[in-house]
Amino acid sequence: MTDTNSIISQNKKYAENFTYGDLPPHPSEKIAILACMDARIPVNEVLGLRIGEAHIIRNAGGIVTDDALRSLIVSHEMLGTEKIIIINHTECGMATFKDQDLQKRISEKYNSNASDIKFHSFNDLEENVKDQIKKIRTSPFLSNIISVHGFIYDIKTGKIREVEQ
Ligand SMILES: [Zn+2]
Repeated sequence: MTDTNSIISQNKKYAENFTYGDLPPHPSEKIAILACMDARIPVNEVLGLRIGEAHIIRNAGGIVTDDALRSLIVSHEMLGTEKIIIINHTECGMATFKDQDLQKRISEKYNSNASDIKFHSFNDLEENVKDQIKKIRTSPFLSNIISVHGFIYDIKTGKIREVEQ
């Protein structure tokens, strides 16, 4: 999967036996998941979810940024999701640097001021998950969400464990 041709040929294989054309847009399990973008986490498989069952929103760190909040509100308000799951993971790259360091690095590298870019790096995995749950729980626009759960996915074992709230 390195160039456009191989992407197109992979898709050709995928579309040969395609059977999802009649799925409704509303996630049938009424779940919205916010997970880190880490390439080692196959979110659907990890949670045993099939296509059409959940929204999956991903970004660096699994952070409730303004844009993630935007997606969660659309998911809830327009597409009927009622449960939110946050997934962070061991060995997250977002815990390996500080915002200031990356801001400085790219400011110098590209000769352009990056000091206002918030990367949301963090130190403590558990605290990070709790912070994201808190952001969801304090959004007035998500106050009708039934449940919010946070999990840490273990890169080495494939297991998740819930973060106590
Ligand atoms: Zn990560």
